[in-house]
Amino acid sequence: MEYRMMILGHFLVISLALNAGLLYKGYSNGKHKAQDIFSFNNECKNASLVTNRDAHIPKRTKASFSSSSSSSKALNEVIDLDHGDPTMYEKYWQQMGEKTTVVIPGWKFISYFSDVNKLCWFLETDFENAVIRLHKLVGNAVTEDRHIVVGTGSTQLFQAVLYAVSPTNASEPMNVVSAAPFYSSYPLITDFLKSGLYKWAGDARKFKKDKPYVELVTSPNNPDGLSREAVVNQNQGILIHDLAYYWPQYTSISSPANYDIMLFTVSKSTGHAGTRLGWALVKDKEIAKKMTEFIVLSTIGVSKESQLRAAKILQVLSDTHEYNGNFQESEPFFDYSYNLMARRWKQLRNAVNKSKLFSLPEFPHGKCAFSSRTFASQPAFAWLKCEGEIEDCESFLRDHKIITRSGKHFGESSKYVRISVLPRDEIFDQFTERLCSINYF
Ligand code: PMP
Repeated sequence: MEYRMMILGHFLVISLALNAGLLYKGYSNGKHKAQDIFSFNNECKNASLVTNRDAHIPKRTKASFSSSSSSSKALNEVIDLDHGDPTMYEKYWQQMGEKTTVVIPGWKFISYFSDVNKLCWFLETDFENAVIRLHKLVGNAVTEDRHIVVGTGSTQLFQAVLYAVSPTNASEPMNVVSAAPFYSSYPLITDFLKSGLYKWAGDARKFKKDKPYVELVTSPNNPDGLSREAVVNQNQGILIHDLAYYWPQYTSISSPANYDIMLFTVSKSTGHAGTRLGWALVKDKEIAKKMTEFIVLSTIGVSKESQLRAAKILQVLSDTHEYNGNFQESEPFFDYSYNLMARRWKQLRNAVNKSKLFSLPEFPHGKCAFSSRTFASQPAFAWLKCEGEIEDCESFLRDHKIITRSGKHFGESSKYVRISVLPRDEIFDQFTERLCSINYF
């Protein structure tokens, strides 16, 4: 009984974290009206299609869409691009072979503590050094005069910041805002415990109250990929800069970010989302202390195994740029990931142009101080708009067995959907092939 409860508990927690409720919502009872006027054609083939991907098909849909030829399989299988699961990076790290393998003997990491002299006493020195080295290499954030706080993903750090910056003696919860379209997890995370300290207050552009507030500035932004600055023009605000995507495979690095509170994560920089590790660069000592307190109260620190593994990955990443001669089989990490994103965005724009039913945002070109390339952003998500009469883009694509996340979860219109550009190659190929085959009769 206890065991069953435990499993149920785990399932609920995982579901919450992944917004699983959004995943196949309404798939089975979805209206198939759109299919009356739209259909597939099979004229636009692109790259190789791998057909053996049963692991990614939800069980209940498997049987009904089974098919014999690889091409019709590509058109029939459910393609899930709801989450930004960064499996695109798997191939690169596979090529690295043993270079990133970490062996941890059983006696290691018995203690809760890493370094009691540090403000964040559960921060592993190897991880701290690897973070500083990487920021210096890329030039995307100032690390001098900053406290580093490690968290179980930047998801935990976001909550730690809200706790740290909210006044404890206020008569009402502090307002938390972000300009729409905002990352869909912000409102869910902010309100799920119904805190008395803070509450979600919606689109920052509509926030006119003369009250203290926290503004989340996500740059480049999830979901639309645009570079952003704060929009609320008041002096009572605290800014949190979520820089999960400020890396040179996604956008040009113009200068080192130099904000008071900056959040980063390995999930979208190296692709190691499963390691669950993020870090905050925090100017103010008291805020860093309170963030540490939050993490102590919620999880008594952060896994040292994760920190050691992430340290190794970040060190090897930096080595691929600084000691490239030692990595004969692989390109430097940010060259590989930049090129892959560039190819994907080209493929995606071709598919969108062929179909004529959709549009994508355009991005300005910028010179990257890290790579010296001049390029337009190639974000981790595509913010796709259904043109014409299609009002509910998510259900329209669901009718074509493409699972996306509706714009309404991001504080925007349901004419938009967010689509992950980070799946494995074969899924991305199937997706673009299907997209360009969706057409009017
Ligand atoms: N911030 C943004 C903008 C994100 O897109 C994500 C991941 N989807 C996160 C934070 C959370 O990252 P983590 O995996 O480190 O919790």
